Amino acid sequence: MADIIYTYKNQVYANITNKCDCACTFCVRTYHDGIGESENLWHKKNPTVEEVKAAIDAFDFTGYEEFVFCGYGEPTCEIDMLIEVAKYVKEKTGLRIRVNTNGLGNLYNKRDIVPDLAQVIDSISISLNAPDAESYNKVTRPQFENAYEALLDFAESCNKVIPKTQLSIVDVLSPEDIKKCQEIADSRGIHLRIRKFE
Ligand code: SF4
Repeated sequence: MADIIYTYKNQVYANITNKCDCACTFCVRTYHDGIGESENLWHKKNPTVEEVKAAIDAFDFTGYEEFVFCGYGEPTCEIDMLIEVAKYVKEKTGLRIRVNTNGLGNLYNKRDIVPDLAQVIDSISISLNAPDAESYNKVTRPQFENAYEALLDFAESCNKVIPKTQLSIVDVLSPEDIKKCQEIADSRGIHLRIRKFE
């Protein structure tokens, strides 16, 4: 059975689904079955809310400060579960809650999910990946035609109501592309995190 809760670099993560609406060329799932302490993050069958809650009940959160929804899939593809589990973790542990996302949750769910997220999460990190739609589509291969614009709209909405909202890129981009991404983030008043390639 795949890990639902896993740890990596002293952070605790929830792997609630393997569903994803992108097929990123760099996706870790294409070359590893697990991350950090986990051996396998591929669910034979995506877990139910009860199974996720049971995994939370069985985990010792001592020493952790934040609970992160991240991988091995896109957590907003299970938005109802994400919201319910986030409430459960908050009530049970008081940890800060973060979501790492591709930012396409409104497109995937065909509705504005930001108000629901804002009720239960403290921070959100949205993968920008590229400085324009054309290069974004090449690297993330999303299911939707207008994904890049939708991602930016989503980030702007989040930035209004979620205490810590950030866009993120990895430093494999050229200095020129990083500068463009910075300008995009600055023009929307959103913090840009430039992550080191690992
Ligand atoms: S959005 Fe995340 S899980 Fe989905 S393909 Fe891209 S890197 Fe992989």
